[in-house]
Amino acid sequence: MKTKYVCTLLSKRLMSSVSPSATQVQQPLNYVRGQRVDPSNQDKNERFSLISPATGEVIREVQSSGGNDIDQAVDISRKALKSWSQISAFERGKVLRKAAEIIRGRSEELARTEVLDTGKPIWEARYDIQGCADTIEYYGGLAVSHNGDFMKLDNGCFAYTVREPLGVVGGIGAWNYPFQMASWKSSPALACGNTMVFKPSPLTPLTAVMLAEIYKEAGLPDGCFNVIQGETTTGQLLSSHSGIDKMTFTGSVPTGSKIMEACAKDIKHVTLELGGKSPLIIFSDCQIDNAVKGAMLANFSNQGQVCSNGTRVFVERKIVDVFLEKLIARTKAMVIGNPNDENTTVGASINKQQAEIVLSYIKGAKQEGANVVYGGERIIPQDVSLKNGYYLSPCILSDCSDDMTVVKEEVFGAVMSVLTFDTEEEAVKRANNSEFGLAGGVFTRDLTRAHRVAGNMEVGSLYINNYNVYPVGVPFGGYKKSGLGRENGADTLDYYSQIKSVYVEMNDVDCPY
Ligand code: NAD
Repeated sequence: MKTKYVCTLLSKRLMSSVSPSATQVQQPLNYVRGQRVDPSNQDKNERFSLISPATGEVIREVQSSGGNDIDQAVDISRKALKSWSQISAFERGKVLRKAAEIIRGRSEELARTEVLDTGKPIWEARYDIQGCADTIEYYGGLAVSHNGDFMKLDNGCFAYTVREPLGVVGGIGAWNYPFQMASWKSSPALACGNTMVFKPSPLTPLTAVMLAEIYKEAGLPDGCFNVIQGETTTGQLLSSHSGIDKMTFTGSVPTGSKIMEACAKDIKHVTLELGGKSPLIIFSDCQIDNAVKGAMLANFSNQGQVCSNGTRVFVERKIVDVFLEKLIARTKAMVIGNPNDENTTVGASINKQQAEIVLSYIKGAKQEGANVVYGGERIIPQDVSLKNGYYLSPCILSDCSDDMTVVKEEVFGAVMSVLTFDTEEEAVKRANNSEFGLAGGVFTRDLTRAHRVAGNMEVGSLYINNYNVYPVGVPFGGYKKSGLGRENGADTLDYYSQIKSVYVEMNDVDCPY
């Protein structure tokens, strides 16, 4: 651990009085059997640097977890499963509801830590944390209602079904919503009586372990929620571990495909929340200011690093000029800079590599004939402490066509491609022409058309006259290559449980032999 880095970072005015303390950032980041621990040295694993996106400074070094650490975490989860799965759903729900209450009490500290890890603006981090408290509370309330059915059969016989947990769940998260991924995966899993080993992204390891501490404080028995840190190898070891009964993953399509392959060997259950290249269709009869705001929400939150972003914006030809004019004016007013400042609306990209990928997509788009009508450049903030962060101005591309690379591939940065169309039929056909199917949107005042378009779009989430809102209770997940399974809704509990059917004979056995 490089304490001097921590001290340097924490001395900057970037941090505020509620920021994570130096001690907290330096603590071990694995969490096993109810306590923070360092990975064992038996595996002689690689180390990786945790870098603040806002400043580009190294916060600390982290050691990856290896085979021994994963064996231990899975073994402890298996032992904890015995009692946790036997506790009544009502009692399990109480623990989750208490955890939600603790999160609300510590929300500012959690949000500041999320900013340190991700570089996102503080108001977005606060919003994420509040949403996580809601989700955990929701599953805490729902736990007791997730029961089986009763079926009356012939001659007084009957059958009933029981919802049972799957066992030990392995979770792997991406870096754009670290606390949310840990919360969205663990709370339904725990509500159903499973236990979990969770691996956050190596780029954002800090808040999953805070969630583990909060669960413990709320009364979760030791060993029910464990955190291991690491990179690809650690993820591979976890997803291929024979002691894991289900994998739940959020990340890119190529990694999701590898995880599914790893799960195939042991026929593990799998939930995959993957990437997207979602369409947003804007008809000329829309309320245009709302459509402009919707397009911005669909592209520019979290520096554009949002899986469900509606990055293919189809605008009906007759309003495209006025749409672009209003869009550019609003985008120009966005404030790029220190993510801990209250008025910042664009924070830092997660790292140099991701920022360079985004810039290369913009360069390629220009070469393929797109027109950059706003943004798409690296900005060096005046504050010298931020000069090594990667701040990009949100980019608007016009004159795009469906065959451009930037229109076909997920960029995972704030790059909006504006395309034009003439008819509803054409717009829907082009919108569906994608290997992804995570989300989509439509802006129109014609309700019949809105619902017709919603019915025809091949996506898991469809927004009418808004975009990128995730109220708790509304299931979220993808069609096509965007994934399998759903999160954030009541249906999610089905993905963390299995059905046992019990047949009861009330008569003598009728046997032909
Ligand atoms: P990624 O696929 O590179 O990594 C995700 C996680 O998988 C990380 O924790 C990583 O360490 C781990 N990992 C990498 N290779 C692995 C392997 N072979 N086996 C097991 N684990 C492995 O994704 P990322 O760059 O962290 O996140 C960005 C992607 O996530 C984007 O495609 C985005 O659309 C997607 N995403 C999807 C959702 C959703 O809900 N659908 C939400 C957020 C992000």
